[in-house]
Amino acid sequence: MALSSSPPVPKPPALSPRVIVIGAGMSGILSAIKLKEAGFDDYVVYEKADRLGGTWRENTYPGIACDVPSHFYSYSFALNPEWTQRFSPGAEIQTYFEQVARRYGVEERIQYGKQITHCAFSEGRWQIETHDGLQDEAEFIIAATGVLHHPSIPDFPDRESFAGAAFHSARWDPALSLRDKRVGIIGTGSSAIQIVSALADRVQSLTLFQRTAQWIAPAENPLYEESERAHFRAHPEAMQEIRAEIAKGMTDGFANVLVDAASPVLQLVHDNCVANLEDNVRDPELREKLRPDYRAACKRLVISPNFYEAIQHPNSRLVTEGIERIEAEGVRTQDGSLHELDVLIFATGFQVDSFVRPMKVEGRNGAVLDSVWKDGPTAYMAISVPNFPNFFLLNGPNSPVGNFSLIDVAERQFEYVLQLLEPVRSGKASEVSASPQAMAAFDLQRREAARKTIWNSGCKSWYLDSEGLPTAWPWTYDRFREEMSGPRLEDYEMR
Ligand code: NAP
Repeated sequence: MALSSSPPVPKPPALSPRVIVIGAGMSGILSAIKLKEAGFDDYVVYEKADRLGGTWRENTYPGIACDVPSHFYSYSFALNPEWTQRFSPGAEIQTYFEQVARRYGVEERIQYGKQITHCAFSEGRWQIETHDGLQDEAEFIIAATGVLHHPSIPDFPDRESFAGAAFHSARWDPALSLRDKRVGIIGTGSSAIQIVSALADRVQSLTLFQRTAQWIAPAENPLYEESERAHFRAHPEAMQEIRAEIAKGMTDGFANVLVDAASPVLQLVHDNCVANLEDNVRDPELREKLRPDYRAACKRLVISPNFYEAIQHPNSRLVTEGIERIEAEGVRTQDGSLHELDVLIFATGFQVDSFVRPMKVEGRNGAVLDSVWKDGPTAYMAISVPNFPNFFLLNGPNSPVGNFSLIDVAERQFEYVLQLLEPVRSGKASEVSASPQAMAAFDLQRREAARKTIWNSGCKSWYLDSEGLPTAWPWTYDRFREEMSGPRLEDYEMR
């Protein structure tokens, strides 16, 4: 008698490829958690420093906070009822990442003090080497190396001659007391604005050297009361609601419109910044010095509840003369004035086109990442580079960057990457990377779209490549979400 149904044929055991994650910052911790959740048992995270946390470990300057509201700058799967403020301070964010890594049991997968210097692909596997000679190999590499982690300090003449403490904003010395110091800050990006806002009333004097004025969007930063935190603990869905509200506001009111310089929403953003300047800076001369000559959001928009108040503090001075040179006693500007200082802070940004470099990465057919990226880093869908099989980037080149939760970006990118790991895990392929044709078409469309964005409306910023074209994701955030919902496999070479 025939059986009505045959017993299931056992499937061949799924392969268990090894994954190396580079970097234990926000994206690396996310990768470790999600790999574990997806059943990848064999993975390791190599971290060059001795602690996790990435940007939040590196940046500890006074006033550091994330200008994305904390309930949105959190992993979607690890909401945090304990945030103390709408924009919580950096130290709290660092603690959050440490707690999440511990709670999700991935901390023990992180190997600290291991800077990967070399990755080479051969016969379906990546071989890596660290600065201290450790070697390892894996089928996959996830590069979660961050965007802004190599400080950039301009080569001001005689920079080394300064007699006091001088350092980059991302190299803050926590032991340094500034209370009775004359402090100079060069730069007016988000870092400088946060430092000025925090320090103005805590130093003897504060001199801000501004090369280019910044538009400042106002923002209130209320504390969460204990009763509110208790409510979040008891009702996690309340955090989901807040999060959804913030995400919608930031998407519709900003992320979706940045890519269309003609958007009337951007005009509202601009008008809001103009009103902030005019309503809050009393002295007309100072007001004009602080008024940018480009459109709001052309540079990354700076958000601050109290910068204008801080720069009008009796301790503060704004210097708009160009810097001629650094001297032992301070900064000499082009009008011949010497601005005497005890401490000099370079809030002068980062080498933004490094991404995974200076690591040497050798792909298939002799491809070397440095050469492939010699005119600037690009990646198909911000994820994959042709001839670098099984090497995937999170928050890599051409990712969305502008004033949005990079956690949301990384989570979506990871879900996409996971779908690219599957063909190898199921044995259908051993090498997966974007095809050269898909990369070329993507780049052409990306460059075309970049011209229409607000970032291309007539200012200089770290968003621009060597040709002056914005490098970030030039389409709406909605399109990013849609693209990240699943790879178009026809755009990938599978071998
Ligand atoms: P940045 O935005 O690149 O700003 C660098 C500043 O240094 C600019 O004002 C620039 O002036 C000035 N500068 C550079 N070279 C100079 C020179 N030779 N002479 C005089 N001034 C010079 O750097 P950042 O403030 O560190 O911020 C970088 C990014 O980090 C931000 O855009 C943001 O994405 C991220 N960030 C985020 C937060 C947050 O709250 N989420 C906080 C801090 C930083 P010009 O404008 O004239 O070029």
